[in-house]
Amino acid sequence: MVKPNTPALSRQTHPLVSCIVPLHIKGPLTYRWPFGSRLPALGTRLLLPLGRRRIVGIYWGQANPPPGNKQLKDVLQVMEKEPLIPEGLMNFIKWAASYYYYPLGPAISEALPQGFFSPTKKATERVFKKGIGPGRSRFDIHSWQGTEIVKLSLEQEQAIQDISQAINTSKFNPILLYGITGSGKTEVYLRAVQQCLEIGRTALILVPEISMTGQLAGWFISRFKQGLSLLHSGLTREQRRDQWWNIRTGRSRIVVGARSAIFAPLSNIGLIIVDEEHDSSYKQDEKFRYNARDLALVRGRMEGATVVLGSGTPSVASFYNALQGKYQLLKMMHRVGQAHLPSVEIVDLRTRKIDKKANATHDSARPEWLSERLKDEISQALDRGHQVLLFLNRRGFATYVFCPECGHVFKCGSCDVILAWHRKNTALVKAKDLTQYRGPGLLCCHYCGETFPALPTCPKCGGQAVRASGFGTEKVAQEFVEQFPGTNVARIDRDTIGRKKEIDKILRDFRRGTIDCLVGTQMITKGHDFPGLALVGVLRADLALNVPEYFAAERTFQLISQVAGRAGRSKVAGKVIIQTFMPDHYSILCATQHDFQGFYNKEIKLRQQLGYPPFGRIINIRLSGTRKAKVEEAAKRLSDLAINLAGKMASTMVLGPVQSPKSRIKSRFRYQFLLKGEMKNLRILCSKIDNSIDALVPTTVRVEIDVDPQNFM
Ligand code: ADP
Ligand code: ZN
Repeated sequence: MVKPNTPALSRQTHPLVSCIVPLHIKGPLTYRWPFGSRLPALGTRLLLPLGRRRIVGIYWGQANPPPGNKQLKDVLQVMEKEPLIPEGLMNFIKWAASYYYYPLGPAISEALPQGFFSPTKKATERVFKKGIGPGRSRFDIHSWQGTEIVKLSLEQEQAIQDISQAINTSKFNPILLYGITGSGKTEVYLRAVQQCLEIGRTALILVPEISMTGQLAGWFISRFKQGLSLLHSGLTREQRRDQWWNIRTGRSRIVVGARSAIFAPLSNIGLIIVDEEHDSSYKQDEKFRYNARDLALVRGRMEGATVVLGSGTPSVASFYNALQGKYQLLKMMHRVGQAHLPSVEIVDLRTRKIDKKANATHDSARPEWLSERLKDEISQALDRGHQVLLFLNRRGFATYVFCPECGHVFKCGSCDVILAWHRKNTALVKAKDLTQYRGPGLLCCHYCGETFPALPTCPKCGGQAVRASGFGTEKVAQEFVEQFPGTNVARIDRDTIGRKKEIDKILRDFRRGTIDCLVGTQMITKGHDFPGLALVGVLRADLALNVPEYFAAERTFQLISQVAGRAGRSKVAGKVIIQTFMPDHYSILCATQHDFQGFYNKEIKLRQQLGYPPFGRIINIRLSGTRKAKVEEAAKRLSDLAINLAGKMASTMVLGPVQSPKSRIKSRFRYQFLLKGEMKNLRILCSKIDNSIDALVPTTVRVEIDVDPQNFM
C-alpha cells in the first residue's frame, strides 16, 4: 500500500503558509497548513515546529512552494481565534523593519508588550494565562489642575482652526507647529484631540521621555477622564499589557506615550501629535533603531491622519521640510497671558583668566561651577522666595578620579574609558544628610554601567592621595547647599531615572514650591511648567558642542533654548544665566537671543555645504567583536564592497572604516563606517551589505545597521 501522504501529493492538498518567528533570521518560514482550506486571519499566532523545538510564529499570508523538494513541516496549533495584531499595525511594523534593516520577527516582538510574541509557547501563554483586560491594573498619574483657560490667544485660535481643518479632511496632513516655549501648545493639542474624537477617530500623542509623560498625560487625563491609555516604560509589565489591550479592543481612543507608543494598536487614527519633535529620545539607540518622530509621518500616511510635529525649537530637518512645503507650517511666536520671554545673559568663563578681579581660582570658597555673577543672581532669587533651576549635562560627582603621585587614572576595564565618581545615588540632598555621609561611594562607567567601589588608595602605586576632579550634577547639588545653607535641593538625572515615582514627586514638589533648587541633566529641560521658577542657570553651555557629531550645534541650541524656556512662564519674571567657554558660538548666541530663525539660517548653510542631513542622508554600519583584528578585517571587507558600488553612483560617499569614538564597550572592539548621500542610493548599498554579511563577516563579529543615526559614538 502506498500512503497518500507523500510530499508531492500533500503540497497540492495542503496550502502553504508563511510565518514570522521572533528570531534573528531573514524572512518568514514556510509551513504546511493541515487544518483544511480555511486560512487564519493575518497576524494570528500559531505554534510551529522548528528543529526539535516548538516556537510561536505569526501567520503572514500564503506561501509559494520553496525551490527544491524540501520537506515542509505542519503548523501544530492555532493559538487564537482573533489575530492579536491588527493588519494595519502589521503593515506598519513591516515597513519600519524594512526601512531600518531590522529582522521582522524581532521588530514585531519589540513593538509589542513583553511576552506577547516570545519564542516559546510557555512564555507566551504565561502572559495570557492570568488573563488581560480592562481595569485590572490602574496606573497612577496625577491630573494637573492648571489655571482654567478662559480665553485662547489669537495664535492658539488660529492654530486650532488650521489643525481642525486638516483633521476634518481625514487625509494625511503633516503639520509643523512651531510654537515658542510658553506659547500654549498643550491647549492646542487638547482641542485638536477633542476635534479628532468628535469625527469618530482616535488620537495618538507622543512625548519624549518618561519624566515628561507625567505632566502632559496629566493634562489629558484631567480633560478627557476616560478612554485614555498611557504607554511608557514606567509602567509595570502588567499595566502595560492591560493598557495595550484596552487600546486593541477599542476601549481607549486616546493614547499618550513615549517613543514605543508609535506601535500602539489603535485603529482609525485621525491625529498623531509628536510633542517636542526635535527631541533625540524619539530615536531608539539599540536593537530596533527606529525614530518614532519619523515613523509618525509614515503611520500618519498609512492611516490618513493629520500629523502635528510640535516644538519651540524645531529640528533643522523638520523646519527645512516645512519651508520646502512638505509640511504645513503653523507658528505661535508669543507667550500666552502675562508671561514674557526671560532675559538671558552670558557669563564668559574665559574672563576668569583675563579679569583678575573676577578670577575665581583665588576664591577657594566658591566651587568651580559657580561664577560670581550666577552666585549673586541665585542669592537674589532665593531672597525673594523664588526658585532656581541649574542645568548641567553631566551626572555624577566628579568627572574622573586619579592618583597625583603616579598619574594613574581610574578606568573601566572593559570599556577603556575613565570612570566617573558617584558619591551616592539619592536624588534628594538635604543639608542634614551631608553629615551622615559615609564611605567613598562608587566609580561608575557611563558606557557600560558597571560600578566599582571607589578606593581611597591607588591600585598602581599604593599612593594615599587619590583625588577627584571635575564636577557633575551630584556635586553641584551637594555644593549648592554648602553655598546657600538651609535650602532644599533636588536632583534629576539618569541616576534617578527608573524611579518614576521619585521623579514625579520631585517635579510635583518643585511645582508646588517646596524645593528651592532643582539640579539636573537634559531630563529637566523638557516641557515642564514651573510657575515659581525665576532663575535658570546653564552651568556649561558648551559641553554638548564639543562632540564629534554633525548636529552638535543643533543639539546645543535646542538644549539651551529649552532649558531657558523654563524660566518666567508665569507672573514671575524670568532670568537665564549661561556660563560658557565659547560665548561666540552661533548656537549659544542665537539661543540667548531667542533667535531660532537666525540659528536655522546659519546651520542650514553649513549642512548644505557638507552634504549633511537634510541634504544628504546617513547610514552608520557598526561592527563589534572581542577580537580586534577580526572586527577590523570584516569592517574593511564590508566597506570595500560599499566603496566599489558607491564609485558608480553620483555623490554617494563611504566614510571609513574607522574605530568608533567609543572604541571598546563591554570588552567588544568597535569599528564603523558611514554611508552618506541620497537615501535611494544608500538603500542600494545597504541592501547589498545586508545580504553580504553572512559571506563576508565571521559569526563572532556583530554587524548593526543604523539608519538616520543620532549616535556616532
Ligand atoms: P508650551 O507647551 O507651548 O511651552 P504650555 O502649553 O505649557 O506651553 O502653556 C504654558 C502655560 O500657559 C500653561 O500653564 C498653560 O496652562 C497656560 N495657558 C495656555 N493657554 C492659555 C491661555 N489662552 N490663557 C492663559 N493661560 C494659558
Ligand atoms: Zn565600562
